[in-house]
Amino acid sequence: MPTSKVPDCAACGQACCRYVATEIDRPTCKRDYDNIRWYLRHANVFVFRDHDGKWYLEFETRCEALGEDGFCTAYETRPKICREHGHAAEGCEFHSGHPPHDVRFETAEAFERWLDARGVDWRWARL
Ligand code: SF4
Ligand code: SF4
Repeated sequence: MPTSKVPDCAACGQACCRYVATEIDRPTCKRDYDNIRWYLRHANVFVFRDHDGKWYLEFETRCEALGEDGFCTAYETRPKICREHGHAAEGCEFHSGHPPHDVRFETAEAFERWLDARGVDWRWARL
């Protein structure tokens, strides 16, 4: 996370401070697939699966504590999740070259193609 001591965060444009992600259930049924299709119909909402097989809903939104100079304006009281995140000097996902996801969807169509490629029956019967 951006600190006054780790200017390397400028290299990725402070990516960590521009989204939030929350874990969701691994999709296993038509209702789950449909919910993900619905999430992905919304602007700035994405879905990804990490390298441990956990699924996440991601919202692209800038933290209001991120200063215009790229540094955290709430550094002393920043949330624990920010404190625990490895910063550039420790090899974060940006500098290590390893993205946090093994698959990520930006559109409902991309998710549908991914399901189709795996032979998943996600379509509801027409009413
Ligand atoms: S810790 Fe890494 S990914 Fe996060 S803002 Fe800094 S350089 Fe970017
Ligand atoms: S509190 Fe600070 S370190 Fe945490 S996301 Fe916001 S700007 Fe980044």
